[in-house]
Amino acid sequence: MAIFKDIAGLRQWRQNLRGTLALVPTMGNLHDGHLALVKLAATRAEQVLVSIYVNPLQFGPQEDFANYPRTLDQDLQRLQEAGCQTVFTPDDGLMYPRGRQDISVVMPPRSLSTVLCGASRPGHFVGVCTVLNKLLHMASPEILVLGEKDYQQLRIVQQMLSDLNLNVQVLPGPLQREPDGLAYSSRNTFLSLAERQVAPLLAATLFDLARRSISGADVPGLAAAGWERLEQAGFLPDYLELRDGQSLRALTTPQPDARWFAAARLGQTRLIDNVIISG
Ligand code: AMP
Repeated sequence: MAIFKDIAGLRQWRQNLRGTLALVPTMGNLHDGHLALVKLAATRAEQVLVSIYVNPLQFGPQEDFANYPRTLDQDLQRLQEAGCQTVFTPDDGLMYPRGRQDISVVMPPRSLSTVLCGASRPGHFVGVCTVLNKLLHMASPEILVLGEKDYQQLRIVQQMLSDLNLNVQVLPGPLQREPDGLAYSSRNTFLSLAERQVAPLLAATLFDLARRSISGADVPGLAAAGWERLEQAGFLPDYLELRDGQSLRALTTPQPDARWFAAARLGQTRLIDNVIISG
């Protein structure tokens, strides 16, 4: 497996490459959700590049950047076993050689980036869009693989690529779950044993709301009931909302392509999830 740590080596490899390249950007601590994206990428591109970089620019001052799980050796092992041939592992000096205070950034559209996670994590999506632009310019892939676990991120990046005329096709990967329904997430490692037992209730609540979101359903009533169920189980919900899957506009009545979105804290761990409605 080739592991690039610098831009020159990566670019040289890219220049000599034949066939389509798919980039799978990650922050490491790889789980089956990430590996599903790598497999999906391999079905659409001759070459797959996985990047592993915990991007400080997308973390707020009170967030878990310092504690974010970093397991590079284990990640490389998993990627090797999955048949991945190329990995990019830049460090902060490479990504932000002039620091992060006074640099050019990429500002995503307000309508998509100030709602849901953008409301409680100001600046988060500026950090995401900026680092993705840098990775795209470094690796020049034709395909960018993003998971639907971070559905808001997916929509923002699709719009950003279109707004900036970047010739990159986004390949969305379905959200992967543990057998009990909990969405795979690097942050699941923060959950205590007791919290891990409770955590699948977030997905269960969303699936229940999605099933009940048939035409004419009382959306605010459903949201209030779901919120209460989460609180009673020990979650501190941040949002629980039905939104349009394209514009992310809030909905008061179900419509095709609508999704329930949730973020909730369980102890110290912030979990997010989303489920498309079935009605
Ligand atoms: P992260 O390492 O959390 O930044 O995630 C890297 C990529 O993996 C993003 O495109 C995520 O949406 C995707 N991803 C994370 N968890 C999952 C999951 N459970 N199912 C599908 N994709 C995921």
